[in-house]
Amino acid sequence: MPSSSHARRAPGGRAVRARSYVVKASPVHGKGVFATRMIPAGSRIIEYRGERIDWAEAERRAAEKGGPLNHTFFFSLHDGRVIDGGRRGNAARFINHACEPNCEALEHEDGRVYLYALRPIERGEELSYNYALIYEGRHTPAVKRAFACRCGTPGCTGSYLAPKTRRKAKR
Ligand SMILES: [Zn+2]
Repeated sequence: MPSSSHARRAPGGRAVRARSYVVKASPVHGKGVFATRMIPAGSRIIEYRGERIDWAEAERRAAEKGGPLNHTFFFSLHDGRVIDGGRRGNAARFINHACEPNCEALEHEDGRVYLYALRPIERGEELSYNYALIYEGRHTPAVKRAFACRCGTPGCTGSYLAPKTRRKAKR
């Protein structure tokens, strides 16, 4: 099953005080999150919230929603657990993937995950981060289609999936 993997630890980022984003329909996929004002590089924008569950429970929930190719709101943590943004989650679960994103998700030592601006983000820009999804099975044409990326950034690889050699997520 897919999971997003973010191996680096967070540096101390500056927090943005007032809410700097809004959720609305995205031209890329479903709903997206958009900057409501200029966000400086390095700003902490939002926490990725949700219920913390183990892999067995994540797999059970994915199966319940139609299997491993279904879009879910899972974020993999270093300790092997998963944040399910679909339960008790916040707007962060709507942030779309991009191959050349303007944000990155970093897990802090305490296991909490925050999105940081990688560069200055203009008002109205859609926020994105690279999901670097790990899919354990074979990357068949059907799997590739299911995870096809249409982010439109210059470095788009055409897929949400991380190359199979980059196995950062533990199971
Ligand atoms: Zn892309």
